[in-house]
Amino acid sequence: MEELSHWIDGKHTRGTSGRFADVFNPATGEVQARVPLASKAELDAAVASAAAAQVKWGATNPQRRARVMMEVVRLLNRDMDKLAEALSREHGKTLPDAKGDVQRGLEVIEFCIGAPHLLKGEFTDSAGPGIDMYSMRQPLGVAAGITPFNFPAMIPLWKMGPALAAGNAFILKPSERDPSVPLMLAEIFQEAGLPDGVLQVVNGDKEAVDAILDNPTIQAVGFVGSTPIAEYIYSRGCANGKRVQCFGGAKNHMIIMPDADMDQAADALVGAGYGAAGERCMAISVAVPVGDATADALIERLIPRIEKLKVGPYTAGNDVDYGPVVTAAARENILRLVNSGIEQGAKLVVDGRNFSLQGYETGFFVGPHLFDHVTPQMDIYRKEIFGPVLSTVRAASYEEALGLAMDHEYGNGTAIFTRDGDTARDFANRVNVGMIGINVPIPVPLAYHTFGGWKKSAFGDLNQHGPDAFRFYTRTKTITSRWPSGIREGSAFNFKAMD
Ligand code: NAD
Repeated sequence: MEELSHWIDGKHTRGTSGRFADVFNPATGEVQARVPLASKAELDAAVASAAAAQVKWGATNPQRRARVMMEVVRLLNRDMDKLAEALSREHGKTLPDAKGDVQRGLEVIEFCIGAPHLLKGEFTDSAGPGIDMYSMRQPLGVAAGITPFNFPAMIPLWKMGPALAAGNAFILKPSERDPSVPLMLAEIFQEAGLPDGVLQVVNGDKEAVDAILDNPTIQAVGFVGSTPIAEYIYSRGCANGKRVQCFGGAKNHMIIMPDADMDQAADALVGAGYGAAGERCMAISVAVPVGDATADALIERLIPRIEKLKVGPYTAGNDVDYGPVVTAAARENILRLVNSGIEQGAKLVVDGRNFSLQGYETGFFVGPHLFDHVTPQMDIYRKEIFGPVLSTVRAASYEEALGLAMDHEYGNGTAIFTRDGDTARDFANRVNVGMIGINVPIPVPLAYHTFGGWKKSAFGDLNQHGPDAFRFYTRTKTITSRWPSGIREGSAFNFKAMD
């Protein structure tokens, strides 16, 4: 069986902890590789080496660093098919979706080519008598990223790109469930000209994460994953004096107003609810039709569309709408929640529990599920299911629908489908959620805007990618200067205006 490695100082490095995790092919259920789980000592050694490499990289001019990003973009395009295949094999998502995963990461690297502009400081000439004042953005030193299984290319690239372009060294601790693509990304950065040691990929589990949180050299930690782990990492990282941003789970509502184009809404819901088997933090997991007539019209359109969905392995090519979920445990958790929905009184309109695929009986496939008459008290409404399960909560009015999205503990994304500009505008202004779609079901912002949720979906005050990423991975230094030829004032004992 293949034994994966870490990527330390520019080469694949075997783990020495003696601990490993199995990496599955979710389509077949077979273990296809094992990945080493780093010890604290391995993590600390990787950080020490990264800190040494960062000194020269941080002093490299930003345009040269940007040229490395330019080359990374070229190489990601060159290797797109290879990356997508490796990604689908470990994650289970379809090949076109895997290419989208790489593409949305690549777009952030494209944005990072603009690092020289984004890192420019500010200058005030003659701020006082003979005094100039300027601010500069300097790298933090060593930063770390801890990433989830569901976007093994995109999210590592969202973290690595801005951190490295800003002049930091970076420790990536990817998900132990699909670690191959992050290792391939490290090879690409090296080929693009990134000096060895500046990017280290350390595979691992809680032990490696705790070592990151406790390592005094690491200045900043960016995390993406589930909310309980986000809360843990945020509090332990902050307690250790680090700059921390954590992005957590979601329960994204889509409100369907009576005036919406019902076919458009149904098509959007099917893609946003079941794409990637629902394993997206921006998936729509709750449909909120306003009024019973809207709900009936929607359900009537959803059922045939959902029953037609093709579920299968990525190797079946374009014939597949979504693949298996990532592990047997994820599958069990989804089915347990589906059963709880039935027990708690929701109406299961499309039942995917007995789904089985000939030749892939041991794969982690879950058929599509649609619930109607879900209420806010039910577990299927309160909890993130992270599977192909769409819950319908019927609302009597727009205000009730808005209140549902407002009252839910998560606030990552939400959407409204309507033809009425006033309602859409009111929704966008009032809802307490970070990313809003108006007749757009998955409103993931592009690389030059920022990505982040509200409430229990994000911890910390800056978002991912866009200008916020460069703020997160740099610190500002402000210099006030006067040269000897400047105006002499004698000793000053009081604070006063500079005039
Ligand atoms: P997860 O929280 O299980 O794991 C995320 C990372 O944390 C992994 O690297 C993992 O090794 C590490 N980890 C897991 N358990 C840990 C522990 N006890 N202590 C320390 N570290 C630990 O998440 P996942 O299952 O990989 O990913 C799915 C979750 O990520 C979903 O909740 C999804 O909504 C969320 N997500 C959020 C966003 C966002 O931007 N808000 C984006 C993608 C995914």
